[in-house]
Amino acid sequence: MKVKKEGLQIKLELTREDYYSSVKRMLNILIPDIEVVNDDSAEVVITSNLKVDTDKIKLKTKLVSSDTELMKKDIDTEIRDARYTDGDIERRCRSKVKFHIYQLLVKFLDLTPSPWGILIGVRPTKIGHFLMDKGFNYNEIKNNLQSTYGVSNEKADLLLRVVKKERIYLPTKEEVKDRVSIYIGIPFCPSRCGYCSFPAYGLKDAAKYISPFLKSLHYEIREVGSWLAKNGITVDTIYLGGGTPTTLNEEQLKELLAIIKESFYHLEVREFNVEAGRPDTITKKKLELLKEYNVNRISINPQTMNQGTLKAIGRDHTIREVKDAFKLARQVGFNNINMDLIIGLPGEDEESFTKTVQDIEELNPDNLTVHTMAMKRASRWKQNSNKLDFPQSEEVRRMLALSKQLAINLGVEPYYMYRQKYMLGNLENIGYAKPGLESIYNIIMMEERETVIGLGGGAITKLVNPEDWTIARLNNPKQPQDYIREVEERTTSKLQRLTSLFR
Ligand code: SF4
Repeated sequence: MKVKKEGLQIKLELTREDYYSSVKRMLNILIPDIEVVNDDSAEVVITSNLKVDTDKIKLKTKLVSSDTELMKKDIDTEIRDARYTDGDIERRCRSKVKFHIYQLLVKFLDLTPSPWGILIGVRPTKIGHFLMDKGFNYNEIKNNLQSTYGVSNEKADLLLRVVKKERIYLPTKEEVKDRVSIYIGIPFCPSRCGYCSFPAYGLKDAAKYISPFLKSLHYEIREVGSWLAKNGITVDTIYLGGGTPTTLNEEQLKELLAIIKESFYHLEVREFNVEAGRPDTITKKKLELLKEYNVNRISINPQTMNQGTLKAIGRDHTIREVKDAFKLARQVGFNNINMDLIIGLPGEDEESFTKTVQDIEELNPDNLTVHTMAMKRASRWKQNSNKLDFPQSEEVRRMLALSKQLAINLGVEPYYMYRQKYMLGNLENIGYAKPGLESIYNIIMMEERETVIGLGGGAITKLVNPEDWTIARLNNPKQPQDYIREVEERTTSKLQRLTSLFR
């Protein structure tokens, strides 16, 4: 019998009450139709009994409703493995409790389990790196992903493929003691896409801020550049993103690139990326400037190759412009071009996505980033998402299968991935690249294994401590007017924090 899940009230009784909010958060995301309540009249009660001895974890979980009783028992002896610390065992206990509860609810409600099991975090690959650092091999990690978190066979294989690739490029603990990557945010775009959650302001309202914003940004770049030189810290990778930096005119772009070169560029920089996402911002001259200033990877992002969808999502460019910009970039000499696609845009289906796939295959980019639609809080669409015609999960899965075939046909392989809340079908975003053309910045940013200094609008600085890979964040203001007003004060405080970290 299928149980009605909308509004179903669940009461949780846990021996470890401190796990309550973490279990509730997981259920809110994975089974949003049910409601976790602290009320004796709840229709379903789940009790979880956890006991940790010196050599084993004993867990018994029971789900009781008016006409059903389901039980799950588990004795886990893996904690005898000397590679685990007390902190690891604590994390394992919490995951086991969550996994039991999720499994019982999946059975009770007759649901299809999430392919990522109970993992709801943005960076599942971190688990792989964490276990590799402890000396676990790929088979052990795969078993762990499946037995502790319920990750499907396919997703566990994907995660391990990505981890293997990433480890080629990730710097060591020693290396990150005197090097950083740089992110520079240009928060302007020709117009704002409906799904956009980035700091990006359309030119119609924000053009007046570009000049004063750039003046402040030049200041911030020069201050940080002098600090790096004074402290003997080298730059590993540079990412100029936003927004769309190529929204700047040729003169503005040239001045900015020259200041970046003078402050950060040297021969050991492994990568210099620029988002040239909107093809309507690209000119031959701008591409030549990027090339002249050592940019070695750019993104030209169509998101879809269907004209109707482009219009519906608020992008005022044409499919022709995407193709022309791509060909122009090849002519100018770019041999590492990324293209972003989004699966699950409103009104799209398997047929329209097939058209996108065919067009992209013809262009033959070197990197392909496939996003699955996620409705983010900061986007324009979030407020009225129920009025938009998003494809159903099954359709999304079929489109995802097409994107995987596209990747095979292009000869690109998965090299980084991340997940987001509220993703259609509970899936993931995957970055693919031809072997040797993986974006190092993307890997570093995803795995948080090197300090990234964020400059410009809405940029986030991540201060990474290599001793335990803990992270502290500093955010630059998103609004250009706030950034302009606060830049001096924030730069001073950023440099103080950097000085303490690299002391
Ligand atoms: S091009 Fe990118 S950054 Fe600009 S509005 Fe669209 S999604 Fe946002």
